[in-house]
Amino acid sequence: MATYAYDLVLKNGRVIDPEHEMDSVLDVGVKDGRIAAVQASISGTKAREIIDLEGYLVFPGVIDSHVHVGKNRGIGYRMTAAAGVTTLVDFGSSMEEFAEEFAQRGVGQNAGSLYSINRDLSSRDAGRSEIERLVDEALAAGSLGIKIVGGHHPLTPETTSTIIDVANDRGCYIAFHLGTTETGSHIEGVREVPALVGDNRLHVAHVNSYCRGMIDTPAEEALEAASVLHGLKGQVVSESYLDTINGTGGRCFDGKPVSHVTRICLTMKDYPPTTDGLRQAIADGYGHVRVQRGGRMVLITGGEAVEIWEERDTEVSMSFPVNSPQATFICATACGPDDEFIVDAISTDGGAIPRNVAVERGMALVRYGALSLSQLAEKLSAAGADMFGLTSKGHLGEGADADVTVIDPQTGTAHMTVASGRIIMLDGVVFPTEGRMITTECGAKTVKEAGFACEIADLQNSRLYR
Ligand SMILES: [Zn+2]
Repeated sequence: MATYAYDLVLKNGRVIDPEHEMDSVLDVGVKDGRIAAVQASISGTKAREIIDLEGYLVFPGVIDSHVHVGKNRGIGYRMTAAAGVTTLVDFGSSMEEFAEEFAQRGVGQNAGSLYSINRDLSSRDAGRSEIERLVDEALAAGSLGIKIVGGHHPLTPETTSTIIDVANDRGCYIAFHLGTTETGSHIEGVREVPALVGDNRLHVAHVNSYCRGMIDTPAEEALEAASVLHGLKGQVVSESYLDTINGTGGRCFDGKPVSHVTRICLTMKDYPPTTDGLRQAIADGYGHVRVQRGGRMVLITGGEAVEIWEERDTEVSMSFPVNSPQATFICATACGPDDEFIVDAISTDGGAIPRNVAVERGMALVRYGALSLSQLAEKLSAAGADMFGLTSKGHLGEGADADVTVIDPQTGTAHMTVASGRIIMLDGVVFPTEGRMITTECGAKTVKEAGFACEIADLQNSRLYR
């Protein structure tokens, strides 16, 4: 039996790796799931499989720092793999739901999850001991940390601060969809962050979504958000996405949508924030209902969408075209006086929400001259690896995990996704294999006992906590 120096060699691609200041045409050799060599030429006889990537861009694997692939959303794994994502963090599942979907519908990526604490709190002003119990249970079960869903189901400022403090105390990941009972999922939610975070650390989710022009113009709000976040550098990390649609819920109770965000979306276009208002907004083509078609999630609107929403007793996922392209552009590109990005990463807040456009829209920003290729790789990969303490990801140095995203510069889309040295997507076709679950020391035992290959995030050395 022949032995090979490499399992896979990616030849002749233009390798972009900001961490190693690399931008040249090189060969990348992969062995046992790791990068074994990056050099001018690797001889063909040494490799089990060789792929010629002349004319393509070779990026460190895209890390989507904010997706939704939890319960009934497992189809998001395929959708993200098709979009070039090698590593993703689910923002808001219980570990039980997350593990079940990962086992059944994962396609070979690295994935971790944040536990959405809101749904299990007994009230919106729950006390510290209850919060501590929920956080400890989530970590023991394997969650990477906690997500506060303030925007949709706001908690009091006191409870929100306490959750942030407990998470910091435990050293776990802590992300916040801004908004409390005193503010909302808009720029006032951003203004509230310094007081809520105190001396703690925090991940501010989807910065662009607070800049929809509710209070000032979208551009003014985006610049203000950038200014607040710049003032919190070293304490707060953040991401933003590049699509105009949001993600919310259509469920109504007692004559009105349950989600605060859905009610805001209605008010923005002068619909009453009621069940009838939502019905009209869907009928008019403003509210979009998410349905599964042809192996992926798509958005539909109008009469057909109203029927589905009613058939399912309003229990549908929804999107509204409410994100401002101006604000989105500012969040993706703004730098401080030190030339460092103010918003750390480009995410999608996608997964099963059909907006996995980080590569495609990021490449559009490159074409426009708003980002260099190296800056795009920083925003799509290196930043995410650093935020979550994934030290062997986000770059293509020897010994790094062999997570690679190959981008076609002509179309600006992902051509190939390689996770742990295995090709899991080529030209939109996904080849599922076993993935790795990202967890903390607290959850490693449970994750391993459940039979998953696992990777421990070094959160104490992450950008969040360093
Ligand atoms: Zn989200």
